[in-house]
Amino acid sequence: MMCRKFEILEKRTLAPKIKEIVLYAPEIARKVRAGQFIIVRVEEKGERIPLTVADWNRNKGTLTIVFQEIGVSTYKLGKLDIGDRLTDIAGPLGNPSKIENYGRVICIGGGVGIAAIYPIARELKKMNNYVISIIGARSRELLIYEDEMRKVSDELKITTDDGSKGRKGFVSDELRDMLAKGVKVDRVIAVGPAIMMKVCADVTRPYGIKTIASLNPIMVCGMGMCAACRVEVGGKTRFVCFEGPEFDAHEVNFTELMKRLNAYREEEKIALEKYLKKIGEVKPNAN
Ligand code: NAD
Repeated sequence: MMCRKFEILEKRTLAPKIKEIVLYAPEIARKVRAGQFIIVRVEEKGERIPLTVADWNRNKGTLTIVFQEIGVSTYKLGKLDIGDRLTDIAGPLGNPSKIENYGRVICIGGGVGIAAIYPIARELKKMNNYVISIIGARSRELLIYEDEMRKVSDELKITTDDGSKGRKGFVSDELRDMLAKGVKVDRVIAVGPAIMMKVCADVTRPYGIKTIASLNPIMVCGMGMCAACRVEVGGKTRFVCFEGPEFDAHEVNFTELMKRLNAYREEEKIALEKYLKKIGEVKPNAN
């Protein structure tokens, strides 16, 4: 079959407002490694959307991305169907995860971040680490990639905020209990909301366990020029796009990161409302 560059070959709804698409992007698929991301544009004058690559197939030339419809651009992305093409994709961007044989590693994924931790857990497993994964979502219906994570983990723990599946509570509660029980851990890597990564870092700090967070700041260029993604790490300003996205979580100034992430919340909300009104849909669809 002849595929066109950046064509959508598969599309799945994983949970309400969370979609997975498989794209044809052979050059990127050839090079991408766990932990890296791409920036997509849905239309010529569209916003640049940074998305962690969840999976790839080098032979077929495909990339898998998972995203949540939260703003106008991700909403438009979610509207595209099989056979549609994205305007362009830049990538792979950022540094790959450092994959070594560490021993026993805890991989933590929160919400949509589960799709981003998946290739990292898989590569850590391939390097013969003992992989304990903790994945969590607000509720059972929002939990994604459970089967995928089970396949690449020696142990899989599930949490939901409301207790509708697995343990009731946050991923960090499971982590806290494991460490308190004396489980020996050589490394922790966390991907999810900034607050989740902050709390996980606070949990591991007293134990001196190396903890890595994959940061998700607002990003524009993705190549170190615009400085939109700057974050303070170890007292220094770092650019997440080309120096990250992974940093030592004990050194990240999460308070500043969270403040910056909230900077355009109101504008994003207004823009989405305006767009939905324009196209005649009052609320984002839940498919
Ligand atoms: P969410 O708000 O539904 O939270 C998911 C899970 O995170 C919760 O179930 C809980 O276990 C944990 N969590 C949430 N608040 C917590 C707290 N106060 N303390 C401890 N744990 C807490 O997440 P969502 O709406 O799916 O959002 C996912 C986030 O992941 C987004 O912010 C997105 O930007 C980020 N993300 C990051 C990357 C990356 O590469 N860094 C990739 C994908 C997604």
